Amino acid sequence: MESVILCRYGELFLKAGNRRAFERILADNVRAATAEVSGARVEQTHGRLLVRVPATDADDAAGRLQRVFGLVSVSVARQVAAKEDLDAITAMAVEEARAAVARDRPASFKIEARRSDKRFPKSSMEIDRHVGAAVQAATGLPVDVHAPALRLGIEVGTDVAYVFAGKQDAPGGLPVGASGRALLLLSGGIDSPVAGWLAAKRGLALDAVYFHSPPYVGEKSRDKVLALGKHLARWQALRSVTVVPFTDAQKRLRDTGPAELAVVLYRRMMMRIADAIADQLEAGALVTGENLGQVASQTIENLTAIEAATRRVVLRPLVTYDKVETTALARRIGTYETSILPYEDCCSLFVPSHPATRARAQDAEKVENKLDVAAEIAAAVAGSERVAID
Ligand code: ATP
Ligand code: MG
Repeated sequence: MESVILCRYGELFLKAGNRRAFERILADNVRAATAEVSGARVEQTHGRLLVRVPATDADDAAGRLQRVFGLVSVSVARQVAAKEDLDAITAMAVEEARAAVARDRPASFKIEARRSDKRFPKSSMEIDRHVGAAVQAATGLPVDVHAPALRLGIEVGTDVAYVFAGKQDAPGGLPVGASGRALLLLSGGIDSPVAGWLAAKRGLALDAVYFHSPPYVGEKSRDKVLALGKHLARWQALRSVTVVPFTDAQKRLRDTGPAELAVVLYRRMMMRIADAIADQLEAGALVTGENLGQVASQTIENLTAIEAATRRVVLRPLVTYDKVETTALARRIGTYETSILPYEDCCSLFVPSHPATRARAQDAEKVENKLDVAAEIAAAVAGSERVAID
């Protein structure tokens, strides 16, 4: 037996000029998302994607498709030859209703029929009534047209009809890759994985860079970041994590500059190294989990001083989020439990309890001019290790 997963997308229609390219990328991403489901086949029809899978794999495939950006919702459907008339559709609807009753014990139902082929002899309202009566007789469920617990969808096309119980939300947004490529500064915290997810939702394909400072920061922190990378890859958001050795640069910055500038100096160095890595990966932008005012270092002045060190646009998807919103999203996307593991991050190394909140780029430059910044970047890039995430 075969199921057909109806994959709906919405926003793409707004972008009339790019629609074809977006649809192609979306179809590729849907194909990749279901590549491990044996026998899955993807078809493009007008304004929708269909994924055919063995019925036993349908829930697994639907779960994967619910993590594909660009899709708005999915429904696991059964196909009926529409030419066979209303009886076949009704029989299938009754079967689906029985299965839903056994699975979810809904308190009421409603038939929602749509007819795209107007040559079909019955109107949608007639289909609703006919099928509704049969489902009610077979299951004993009452009809509730306003707030039904079970929505049985029926779509009648030219050659085939689909029958499905309800729809499941997918994340929406744009297909990953449609907006190009960016480099995510991924730490082990709560914020940066969520920032990466939001960037991917806007169609950015990501690689990540992680600055690692052994022995002050342990291997567990590195493992944690790689684990977060895997979580993002479940959403097709991430391709690789580049682990950059950062201890030497940090120590030299610490030894050269005033303690209260340490965080800004570290972050400016991170930006420069990230730029060099982004050159290698052909990433057009940087993405960080920075926010406003959550920590003393994240003031407009400090963000300005940090951003002055990079050639690329820095995207900060979380700038309007408060911690409650970020945490809720981290839970939803599956990164939270990993993020709260108690391992240290290099940004807190050698940092005083009262860091500067109004750093100026020129003060940082005075410190940096005493160092060979280009050599610092080159050494960090040369010592870095790129880990493919799959
Ligand atoms: P997060 O929860 O993402 O760790 P945060 O609230 O702890 O963020 P900061 O420590 O100031 O804030 O870091 C701000 C951003 O800088 C991070 O979201 C991340 O994008 C980047 N960043 C910080 N430390 C690292 C690191 N070791 N490697 C890569 N990026 C980092
Ligand atoms: Mg952090």
